[in-house]
Amino acid sequence: MNIHRYKHLEERFLPRLTSTQVRDLPKEDALVILPIGATEQHGPHLPVYTDTILAETVLDEAFQHLSKDANIWTLPAIPFGKSDEHMDRPGTFSFSFDTLRSILLDLSRGVHANGFRKLVLFNGHGGNIDTLKLAARHVRIETGLMVFIINVGGLAIPASIISEEEMFMGIHGGDYETSLLMSSYPEWVQDDKLPKEVPMLADKSKYLRFQKGNFAWTIDDVSVSGILGNAQLATKEKGDALYREHGREVASCLLDILTFEISELIEHLPIQVTEAGSVK
Ligand SMILES: [Zn+2]
Repeated sequence: MNIHRYKHLEERFLPRLTSTQVRDLPKEDALVILPIGATEQHGPHLPVYTDTILAETVLDEAFQHLSKDANIWTLPAIPFGKSDEHMDRPGTFSFSFDTLRSILLDLSRGVHANGFRKLVLFNGHGGNIDTLKLAARHVRIETGLMVFIINVGGLAIPASIISEEEMFMGIHGGDYETSLLMSSYPEWVQDDKLPKEVPMLADKSKYLRFQKGNFAWTIDDVSVSGILGNAQLATKEKGDALYREHGREVASCLLDILTFEISELIEHLPIQVTEAGSVK
């Protein structure tokens, strides 16, 4: 029995509505979510669809915590991302930076043209983050949309579920992602092939860290098996707990965004200029 398959997300799936229903939505206080995943190698044990699954299932879990009349709608997930760091491995299908950026800009223009004011880019793949940031600012400038980014990989992970040591290096196909997939798609996990591989990065430098993004790498630079972390630690129970944590956090984040107005960040008072010409 699978508990995470889009039970709640289906109710918020924007394309389930008719054209007339979309036209008649109250747009002023609505939020549109665009999930973005990836199709890329995740080691010998996880499906290449893992990051798209994570975006959709974490969102599904979050919707469980939101009232049915919250004016939040999701577009279909983009099932590919920028995965050139995994390009040479079987099962990887990647957009280039330019393609992903163009797709994000086109769909954001559509969100704006439909009359919405707020867009959340909900991302399941770490390799997309830089492109999302650049596209988000471009959309903000070009359309005036308020654009937000939520990264599944940036959500809080209690050390009681995944150890700090594992989170330090386990960024791809390790305990974290494997536990989540064991919870949501157990039949897609090859649990007789769970790998463990941790690069020697920590021994080489205290400055160079995957999380800081301060050195360029491809998977072949850092892993033989295609993963970073210890998938042998993974359990379904950890995955269940992670979904609960992530669901609550994303739900409260979406509620924050729902009431957020970027125009309220500064005081719109007449600017006073002193005699010396400096602005007060
Ligand atoms: Zn992943």
